[in-house]
Amino acid sequence: MDAFQFIRAESLNSATKYGVGAKFVAGGTNLIDMMKLDVERPKVVIDINGLPIDKITVASNGGLVLGALARNADVAHHPAVQRDYAVLSQALLSGASPQLRNMATTGGNLLQRTRCPYFRDTAHACNKRESGTGCSAIGGHNRMLAVLGTSEHCIATNPSDQNVALTALEATIQIQGAGGNRTVPIHSFYSVPGVTPHIETVLQPGELITSVTLPPPVAGKSIYLKLRDRAAYEFALASAAVVIKLNGKRIDYARVALGGVGTKPWRSLEAEAVLHGAPADPVTFRRAAEAALKDAHPQSENGYKVELAHRCIIRALTTATQSV
Ligand code: SF4
Repeated sequence: MDAFQFIRAESLNSATKYGVGAKFVAGGTNLIDMMKLDVERPKVVIDINGLPIDKITVASNGGLVLGALARNADVAHHPAVQRDYAVLSQALLSGASPQLRNMATTGGNLLQRTRCPYFRDTAHACNKRESGTGCSAIGGHNRMLAVLGTSEHCIATNPSDQNVALTALEATIQIQGAGGNRTVPIHSFYSVPGVTPHIETVLQPGELITSVTLPPPVAGKSIYLKLRDRAAYEFALASAAVVIKLNGKRIDYARVALGGVGTKPWRSLEAEAVLHGAPADPVTFRRAAEAALKDAHPQSENGYKVELAHRCIIRALTTATQSV
């Protein structure tokens, strides 16, 4: 690990003045690991744990504001989250371990880095870690990696469960930087790799996520279903976050996001278009699942994810509509 300057931020303004070469640390559940592996080599590490951005509050429009430092466990167990945004609580509780959830934060989880094994191993070429060096996963071990949103330069998955639920909930992200404040819808926050896999979000150097806002709850049902190799402490092979509302037997409102299969938390507008106004039945659900994966581009070891994601979507939709 390289030497670095360590600073405890005393205000939002002081935290956001460092720019290129600086990294924020909150829970430390991701950044510190990567510093030990020499994947991250910041010149300055800014501890933001003392900043007043850890609260969970009701928004004036009836939504919910999650401070960027709100711990994953606190969000998952918050009564308003469990009552009105069950998909988020379920997603958070499906991730990591109790110890990690006690430390990991809302903002940090938004920026969680991929678990592509080559990204975390400096002995292998990786365009995301070092632009222009190549991608070891294409033609290598790619069983866990993405089938949607990939490019010939990177096929890494976004590993987060939280981010999939936030995508289905259409959350917005509040950001502060030296140039001022801005709000970005989560669907505009992440980039697909294209020719620049090292650029993952719209965040500029020095910008800090301060909160995440959930819109007022939908009067329907939401669910998160995660399929993985083992029942705990494991990343998704495929997951589905569904927010759905019925009008009689027809679907009045649907939001579908996928995890484990996309290079970013994957909102499926294609699945939603099939669902809107259609009967809530197995034929509709299969059509929605096939629409969601129609552009899938599997690699040598991860073709199984296409049918796994189909089944994940169908089961999530079936479960959600049976209990509306
Ligand atoms: Fe690196 Fe992306 Fe290729 Fe993995 S898939 S080795 S993260 S470029």
